[in-house]
Amino acid sequence: MAIFDFLSTMGIAGNIKGIKEQLPAGVELVAVSKTYGEAEIMQAYDAGQRIFGESRPQELRAKYEALPRDIRWHMIGHLQTNKVKYIAPFVDLIHSVDSCKLFEVIDSQAEKCGRVIDVLLEVRIAQEDTKHGWDEDHLVSWLDTGEFREAANIRIRGLMGIASNTEDTDRIYSEFTALSRLHGWMKEEYFGPEFDMLSMGMTSDYRIAIECGSNMVRIGSMIFGERDYLK
Ligand SMILES: *Cc1c(COP(=O)(O)O)cnc(C)c1O
Repeated sequence: MAIFDFLSTMGIAGNIKGIKEQLPAGVELVAVSKTYGEAEIMQAYDAGQRIFGESRPQELRAKYEALPRDIRWHMIGHLQTNKVKYIAPFVDLIHSVDSCKLFEVIDSQAEKCGRVIDVLLEVRIAQEDTKHGWDEDHLVSWLDTGEFREAANIRIRGLMGIASNTEDTDRIYSEFTALSRLHGWMKEEYFGPEFDMLSMGMTSDYRIAIECGSNMVRIGSMIFGERDYLK
């Protein structure tokens, strides 16, 4: 695939640089380092990258403990309520809040740590059933209850979504556009200026996501190479 071409010639530091040059001002890069080792993360770190995304809480915790303290760790994968405790003391942003139960557990774990944790609400935009995330209707009903306003140790900063894994770019455009509109509407209706993050786009579709209004892209394989999940 053409996107992996510059990987072979420039290495991790070069990939970071190449991607950053393409990103418009105001678009944050989350380097998705799940399954990659500390040495690879340090190459990205030495190239100036400070935000890293992981999808497994224990792996995230272990990397946090081993690596420099000025790294901002983002949890991007599905999070089980009983695992929030591993990351609550230090996590910078949780992208994947997909239930009111998880929301409540993060709030109470954050309180135990004396922190306020920033989160995004993950909305299911892909047509595939396998993806996590709120259905729009359920999310709206929950927001209408106003319960989220009572939680003192969690702050909702925006939305996250994963588009369908397809070659059909029209479909990807329409899924990202829908999420972007929903974000704008919710900002007006429920939140205000603090609701300023829209996390969408990964290696295969981040350019489309940016066109549709993303201000946070989560890129893994284009930086680190193809993942080996068996590691
Ligand atoms: C793994 C992952 C990514 C990065 O995927 P790439 O295709 O390697 O860029 C982005 N977002 C989420 C939620 C992921 O789990």
